[in-house]
Amino acid sequence: MRVMILGSGGREHAMGWGVSRSPQVQEVFMAPGNGGTSNVGRSVPLDICDPPAVLKAAKDLGVDLVIVGPEAPLVAGVADPLLDAGIRVLGPGSKGAQLEGSKAFAKAFMTDNSVRTAQFDVCSNVRECRRALSIRRPPYVIKADGLAAGKGVLITQDLDEAIRYCEDLIERGILGDAGSKVVIEDHIGGFEITALAMVDGDRGIILPLSQDHKRAYEGDRGPNTGGMGAYCPVPWEREELLSKIRGEVLEPTLRGLKAMGIRYRGILYMGLMVRDDGSIWVLEYNVRMGDPETQVTIPVIGDQWLSLCWKAADGRLDVDRVVEDHKTALGVVLASEGYPARPITGRHIQGADPFDDGTSLVFHSGTRLESGGLVSSGGRVLTVVGIGEDLKEARERAYDRIRRIHLQGGFYRSDIGLRAMGEV
Ligand code: ATP
Repeated sequence: MRVMILGSGGREHAMGWGVSRSPQVQEVFMAPGNGGTSNVGRSVPLDICDPPAVLKAAKDLGVDLVIVGPEAPLVAGVADPLLDAGIRVLGPGSKGAQLEGSKAFAKAFMTDNSVRTAQFDVCSNVRECRRALSIRRPPYVIKADGLAAGKGVLITQDLDEAIRYCEDLIERGILGDAGSKVVIEDHIGGFEITALAMVDGDRGIILPLSQDHKRAYEGDRGPNTGGMGAYCPVPWEREELLSKIRGEVLEPTLRGLKAMGIRYRGILYMGLMVRDDGSIWVLEYNVRMGDPETQVTIPVIGDQWLSLCWKAADGRLDVDRVVEDHKTALGVVLASEGYPARPITGRHIQGADPFDDGTSLVFHSGTRLESGGLVSSGGRVLTVVGIGEDLKEARERAYDRIRRIHLQGGFYRSDIGLRAMGEV
C-alpha cells in the first residue's frame, strides 16, 4: 500500500510514523513534510490546498490512501476530486468540512440536531454584536466565523475589549473574510477534553480521549496557542463518559450529516466541555485530528491506526472499539522565543533527532533542514512524546528527552499533565 499524508506539522509527522511501521505499507509520501519527516517518508513538494495538483500527485505516485492532516485543504475541497477518481481519502469533502470551515454553520447544525452547545448569536455588523454582548455576562466569548488557525477566538471579561474585537473583525477585517461574520456565545465552565472519532460514513469509533493545553504559559496563563502539550488517554476516562459522548454527540452528528446527504469519511474532532454536573457541551467540531493530540493518540492506539484509517476511508469500519493496551503518552511542545505573537525562527536546533528509542519520540513541526543542520521555521517547533505505563512515567520520559534538546530562546511548559495527576 502507498500512503500520502498531506501537511507539514507534528500531527502529520506522527501520522507518518504510525503508518510507516506497518508491514503492509510499501511507501509513505509526506506532502510536503518538514525537516524531521524523512525518517518516516519521502517528501513531496506540493501545494496541498490545490485540489487538482494533489490529485495529479496522488495518481502519478500510485497512492492508495490519502490522509489529510490540516483543515485548510479539506475546506478547499481537496477530498472531492480524489474521491471522484476512486482514491481512498481520510477526510471529508468540502460540504462536510463546513463543520469546521464555518462556526455559524456548525452552531446551526448542532441546534438542528439537538447536540448540546452554548447559546449563541451570529452577527454580521457591530450593532448586532453589541446587542448580543449586552444580553450576556462576562466572560464574553467572541469567535470569527471562518478558519483562523486557532487565532480567531477571544475570551474576555472586558466589554470594551469585546466590542473592539468585533470591530476589528467586521470593520477592520483583521482576519479577512474569516471575520466577516462573528459568533458570540455563552461561556461554559468545566474541564475541556478532545474526543476524536474515526468515521466511515455510517459508523464512528471514538479513539481514546485526550486533553490539550491551549495556553502558552504554566498554570494555564498567557495567550491561546495551537496547543502546548497533551496526553492520552485521560486518566478518568470512564465507560459512562464515552457512552454519553457517543449517544449525545457522535450519533446525532452522524445522523445529521446523513440527513444532509453528506458522506463523511474521516476524522471527526469533538471539542468538549464537561461541566461539574456531568453534562457535555460541544465547543467546536473540527474535521481533522488535533495537533498536539495526534502525537499522543497514535502511539497509544499503535498498529490499529493504519487499519482504522483504511477501513474508515473504505466505508467499512467493522470494529466498534479501539483495543487499549494500557499505555499512556504525554507530549510537550517546544516553541520558539516570542511564540505565539512573534516567533523568532531560523535558529539552530540540537539534539532533536526524531528516532524512536522505545519510550520517547520526537515529532517535528516548524523545522527545516539546511546545509548547516536543522533550524527552526515556525512557532511550534516540535513535540516530544514520552510513553509509559501511566501518566507519571510518560511525563518523566517526555521531560527527560526534551531537556536534551537545545534551541536558543525556545521554551516549553513544565506542567503538562500535572493537573490530571492531581498535583496542582
Ligand atoms: P482551535 O482551532 O485552536 O481548535 P478554534 O479557533 O477553532 O480553536 P474554539 O475551539 O471554538 O476555536 O475555541 C478555542 C478555545 O476557546 C477552546 O479550546 C476553549 O478553550 C475556549 N472556548 C471556546 N468556546 C468557549 C465557550 N463557549 N466557553 C468557554 N470556553 C470556550
